[in-house]
Amino acid sequence: MSVSSSVAVVPVLEKPAARRRSYAPAEVAPRLPRPRALLCDLDGTLIDSMPTLAEIASEVMESTYGTPRASARELYLGTCGVPFAAQLDEIFPGDPRNAGASARFEAAKPARCGAIQMPAGTQRALERLRASGVRIVVSSNNGVENVAAFTRNARFSFDLALGFGGGLAKGRPHFDLVARQFDLAPDEMLFVGDSLHDGEIAHQAGVPFAAVATTFSPERFKLRFPHAPVLRRFAALPELFQ
Ligand SMILES: [Mg+2]
Repeated sequence: MSVSSSVAVVPVLEKPAARRRSYAPAEVAPRLPRPRALLCDLDGTLIDSMPTLAEIASEVMESTYGTPRASARELYLGTCGVPFAAQLDEIFPGDPRNAGASARFEAAKPARCGAIQMPAGTQRALERLRASGVRIVVSSNNGVENVAAFTRNARFSFDLALGFGGGLAKGRPHFDLVARQFDLAPDEMLFVGDSLHDGEIAHQAGVPFAAVATTFSPERFKLRFPHAPVLRRFAALPELFQ
């Protein structure tokens, strides 16, 4: 797997020695300036859809490639953050069955994930941030139709909702669009996501990143992105900001 190999160096933003002398509990995340736009990944970040997605993926991988369910689940979660077709190309490079498997996965998603709503605490956090002037954007590699369905059914009105398709994708294409739309520099945004891939694409684009440790452990994020705040739940996000 190549999810953690694309960026070699994480810039040192503060002196590690100074942090080691601190007796503050490890759970206390570093404070950040309040962003002007918050870009939120969808699956695993705004909604708790990863268990269902992993179940669909493991069913498809078992029936298509004979992969045992438990291994399939691990492979799915380990490569998440990109469209399923790209995950399959990473797990089964060049396999002619990938396109069909991806189509079956995408076809099963709306019925099984479409009704998942944001937890009340997540919605309250978004309302609180918007009340303080932050633009709230969905930035997901889920398909544009699924993202549109999510925002239609959400009890919160997003400033912008971006999915995968039509030349758009999570990462630089979404960051550039948000920058143009709201006249922002990369460091005036914050991307919040649950995958290591989310951290990588933010880092590559110079966009600050905060992790929600719902899919990967806090330790995985801390090892890969030592200076990114790690939250255990999205609802704690407003507490990050000065
Ligand atoms: Mg996600």
